[in-house]
Amino acid sequence: MKNCQPMKVHLQVRIESHPFSTGDLIGGDAALDFINTVTGRDQSPRDWLDSYMRLLEWAALVRLLPENILRALARRAKTQPKAAAAALTRAKVFRETLFALLKGIVSGSAPPKAMVALLREHWIAGISAHELRFDDGRVVAELRNDAADFDLIASMIAYRMVEYVLPLPKDRLRICQGPNCSWLFIDSSKAGRRRWCDMAVCGNAAKSRRFYARSRQRRKSRRDE
Ligand SMILES: [Zn+2]
Repeated sequence: MKNCQPMKVHLQVRIESHPFSTGDLIGGDAALDFINTVTGRDQSPRDWLDSYMRLLEWAALVRLLPENILRALARRAKTQPKAAAAALTRAKVFRETLFALLKGIVSGSAPPKAMVALLREHWIAGISAHELRFDDGRVVAELRNDAADFDLIASMIAYRMVEYVLPLPKDRLRICQGPNCSWLFIDSSKAGRRRWCDMAVCGNAAKSRRFYARSRQRRKSRRDE
């Protein structure tokens, strides 16, 4: 495998103030985009969730929750900042667990039981936040109106992960091979050979890095002659 550098275990994660935009949504599902709110896990990790309000901003951008629930959570976060901050911490623990779990799946290793147990916990909370309603001849799952809980975003991520991401063919789940990225994405290309989160960003960066490495190697071997 190319770019198979050993992962540094204790990289310092820098919290960065980052206004989210649609360019940050490349995962193919909100559950993967949530994991991608940390970028550069392979080199210099930056965590873009600098507050609970930022998590809400992100959830609004990906349309994870209806607007009335997002507004209720924003109001409550202002009056209960400590509880909101604690929920953000729990969401981040879950996010890092998901990254480790999916990285394991991509490399073909079985996830530790504790990781699956944490996913199950959030997934069950996600199911409980739904009700089943009969509508237009069908039974549909819908978020309950009273589901506005600080942990609802993590619950919904778990729900999406189990319902939509994990059932996908595992060879379609990828980690970007670009330098200082490690974003996860679903390869839905026809040929199934997508290697980069974004060709224009990571594809070109990786190519120029390889070019640089090759030319440095050439210079070195000339010196050795
Ligand atoms: Zn990338």
